[in-house]
Amino acid sequence: MAIEHISHLRCIICGEKYPAGNRYTCDKCGVEGILDVEYDYDKVAKTLTRHALAQRPHTHWRYEELIPVDFSLPLPRLQIGYTPVYHTDRLNEWVGLRDFYLKDDGRNPSASFKDRASSVGVMKAIEYGAKTIATASTGNAASSLACCAAAVGLSAFIFVPEKAPEPKIAQLLVFGSTVIKVKGNYDAATDFCMDACAKYGWYNRNCAINSYLVEGKKTCGLEIGEQFSDTMPDWVCLSVGDGCTIAGTWKGIREMHQLGFAKKLPRMLGVQATGCKPIADAFHSGKELVPVEGGTRADSIDCGTPRNWRKAVQTLRESHGEIVAVSDAEIMEAMNKTARLSGVFGEPSGAASVAGVKRAIADGIIKKGESVCAVITGNGLKDIKAAIETAGTPIHIPPDLGVLDKELKKRKVL
Ligand SMILES: *Cc1c(COP(=O)(O)O)cnc(C)c1O
Repeated sequence: MAIEHISHLRCIICGEKYPAGNRYTCDKCGVEGILDVEYDYDKVAKTLTRHALAQRPHTHWRYEELIPVDFSLPLPRLQIGYTPVYHTDRLNEWVGLRDFYLKDDGRNPSASFKDRASSVGVMKAIEYGAKTIATASTGNAASSLACCAAAVGLSAFIFVPEKAPEPKIAQLLVFGSTVIKVKGNYDAATDFCMDACAKYGWYNRNCAINSYLVEGKKTCGLEIGEQFSDTMPDWVCLSVGDGCTIAGTWKGIREMHQLGFAKKLPRMLGVQATGCKPIADAFHSGKELVPVEGGTRADSIDCGTPRNWRKAVQTLRESHGEIVAVSDAEIMEAMNKTARLSGVFGEPSGAASVAGVKRAIADGIIKKGESVCAVITGNGLKDIKAAIETAGTPIHIPPDLGVLDKELKKRKVL
């Protein structure tokens, strides 16, 4: 159904157009030539209206005209997307803004933003007749794919780097996928996965090369456009690893602006970790990206060779945005404060957006009176080690009121 709204695929480097179909990258530009899906917006506008949206399910599928899947096929029966936006009223004081919003994407089925993309991935795999889908991931794309594959009955092969946190690996195994733990980092896992897909003919979910997947990520931006409509914040902030989350979100916001749902466009603020900030460096130097080794507690953005850096940099330029780098200490503090002052528990890469907003204010990028929405891209239970490190220890005592009284007074919580 929604496939009818696609006009073509366009190479992000040379602009070459291709008809919609099962292809990954541009023939002329090779793996760097990622294809972007373009739509016939006049046709979209005829049926994607406020009135129509009011009748549609509260999932990301509600924007069906702008999602490149065949809606006549059975969709995974999961509540994906349409995640809540909260105005914060204690966290905003800590951050230093009057209007500070959180969009909690940790509330997706596998507890991260990635479900937006994986759900599109499994639908494309089914459409192309594949029985098997594969991906390489720092963790969340993998657990998300495992979850969505389980929901629709596809088998999944997942390549993870050695350092992926255990809770994420537990998710993969629980959802029944075959897990290959690759000796090396994320980039090694990605390359190995591509080779295996070529050898076995599996459908490749890697967002870095699969343009349809980014259309799933776009739904975060479509929601922001609909949820804020006339009150779009001045800034929308997301953490950046490979780069397609921020690029996808920006595309969605732009589409909702073009279709008249959002009154204005925000500026996009990207956040990387100081231990892994190749996209921030490329943006600030204006030069080609230089891959780095990486190294941050925020494992989901620890991506030293981002494949979507061009799209991320393009997003920052087009939106008159900025990108900042924050230390692991800043990330951990933001994770702790966000949980305590708003009730939203993000994993380090999720709470990094809040750390980034605070840094951008300190650096004079975000001005005091401006409004900001930070997306929490993953749930804190994804990395309990990090959480426990910032949260302190329980009071471990026998069931004795006298001892309790003493301990509470000692900690000054009474
Ligand atoms: C994947 C991920 C990101 C970053 O997305 P990219 O597309 O790699 O830039 C941020 N936060 C979380 C929790 C993620 O899983």
